[in-house]
Amino acid sequence: MTTAPVHGVAVATRDVHLAFGANRVLRGVDLEVPAATTACVIGPSGSGKSTLLRVVNRLLEPDRGDVLLDGRSVLRDNPDVLRQRVGMVFQHFNLFPHKTVRANVTLGLTKLKGLPGDEADEKALHHLDRVGLAHKADVRPGNLSGGQQQRVAIARALAMEPEVMLFDEATSALDPELVKGVLATMAELAAEGMTMLVVTHEMGFARSVAQQVLFMDHGRVVEAGAPDRLFEAPETERLQRFLSQVL
Ligand code: ADP
Ligand code: MG
Repeated sequence: MTTAPVHGVAVATRDVHLAFGANRVLRGVDLEVPAATTACVIGPSGSGKSTLLRVVNRLLEPDRGDVLLDGRSVLRDNPDVLRQRVGMVFQHFNLFPHKTVRANVTLGLTKLKGLPGDEADEKALHHLDRVGLAHKADVRPGNLSGGQQQRVAIARALAMEPEVMLFDEATSALDPELVKGVLATMAELAAEGMTMLVVTHEMGFARSVAQQVLFMDHGRVVEAGAPDRLFEAPETERLQRFLSQVL
């Protein structure tokens, strides 16, 4: 990845609640990710991790509570504008199969940011180069490995120049041999100073890259702290049980 200045800003939630009908999925989530740091969210399936990320970029509106970027509430802002500040990468990368890699990355730049075609193209190539895929600009996603497709999805998000990046199990759908390359791209982004909130099952990544790990269970952050402390000396019985199952 060529180095480009990245200026992440702090992201926080305050007492976020969200229910789907009678199912109270988020039950008062507080988190604080300082600017230019990475926080990993771990926890069992169904604990609300994806829902939490979707609230942070306003794909979902919380019933109660607040979401702050750089210390300022964003719940009253235009969600489309907020989503340009907060990039998100999903488990299934959702690239357009009939468009080239280049066109997948320029689309948001021309349609959402209104950039002229040549500027969008230049920016797309720059960000594809950051993830090591500029040489694949003119192929279709189907000709790439799953890991390369996920790195295109990361480039697509980065091209919008977000201040925060959210990753929702970005490597969970990949064959094991492809996971490393995507995690390496994410680690480089963290090292460049992006603020990142990363839902992951990759405990090695959490340990080596994150400054903070948050353990979620039943819609709450049950335990949070520095990775070494959390993994070596979990305080709650629920985290002890979770770690004994995944490590
Ligand atoms: P995780 O990502 O930790 O596995 P999720 O946030 O995906 O958990 O889901 C938490 C709970 O919310 C689950 O019980 C799930 O069934 C429910 N849920 C998630 N999305 C929706 C939705 N769009 N409509 C109804 N229920 C949902
Ligand atoms: Mg999930």
